[in-house]
Amino acid sequence: MSRKIIVIGSINMDLVTSALVFPKAGETLIGTSFLTIPGGKGANQAVAAARLGADVSLIGCVGDDLFGKELVEHLKEQRVSLPDVEPVTHTQTGIASITLAEGDNSIIVVPGANYHVTPELVAKYEDLIASCDTMLLQLEIPMESVEMAVKIGRKHGLTIILNPAPIAKLSKEILLNIDYITPNEHEVVELLEGLDEVQRNTLKEKLIITKGAKGITYYKNGNEQHIESYPVEVVDTTGAGDSFNGALAVALTTGNSIDKACRFANAVGALAVTKLGAQSGMPTKEEVEIFLN
Ligand code: ATP
Repeated sequence: MSRKIIVIGSINMDLVTSALVFPKAGETLIGTSFLTIPGGKGANQAVAAARLGADVSLIGCVGDDLFGKELVEHLKEQRVSLPDVEPVTHTQTGIASITLAEGDNSIIVVPGANYHVTPELVAKYEDLIASCDTMLLQLEIPMESVEMAVKIGRKHGLTIILNPAPIAKLSKEILLNIDYITPNEHEVVELLEGLDEVQRNTLKEKLIITKGAKGITYYKNGNEQHIESYPVEVVDTTGAGDSFNGALAVALTTGNSIDKACRFANAVGALAVTKLGAQSGMPTKEEVEIFLN
């Protein structure tokens, strides 16, 4: 029987503007290009895992509009199973307005239909969740829905990975019941803020911190482990974290140790930044094998 990944999260259309420099507040600049690219952390992570050959289902919502239709078609083409994504009427599909400049990105997300991924909707798919091995979560859907997903995932013994982006305060139940949490360098500061010593130590064992070009840091039996990133030519860093998380889920689902899974995800994250676009830049299993050999 094949091992299965369930992703519960956002589906967005990324509206990507490139410019030479970031505009200051109140300033208007002439950009160099504009593209619409499928995105959303949930969809990105699902596509990342599917590209790497995994059997992936995605629970999410789109609006009753052209972006929604296009995104559902696109996800099907990418071999992501959508149990029955019904367009939510009178609601817009989520969008992310992304500016690329100075080798970096800045992003504003408008959730739209993603906020219709309610706890009730998640609970409706309990049987599907129970049939999976690994759950991948992010924070672009309501927090109560993430809590419901964690509760159902724990009940059925799934390995649960949470990418805490965009960062928000997490309940004790979430922190206790997830297996891995994958903040970037900025998110980890907020994540640890306000936690006591015991809570910090409990969380540390679950932490995998992604540090962009500086690689990743995680903990094993209280000891800090570090993996350097691969030296690559950066084209677009959008979706590096999502590629990393999708890859981590694939490697853990197929029974790899945390060390091996982190190394694999580090390679996938590196390959992802060498191409434009979040999903379009995600490597296939074959591309990763060539890169690692
Ligand atoms: P984003 O929000 O842009 O999707 P993130 O901030 O969540 O990304 P990062 O820490 O930037 O995530 O990147 C995730 C992983 O991707 C890194 O830990 C590393 O493995 C890989 N990666 C990212 N940037 C680079 C880079 N410049 N060179 C090599 N690898 C990179």
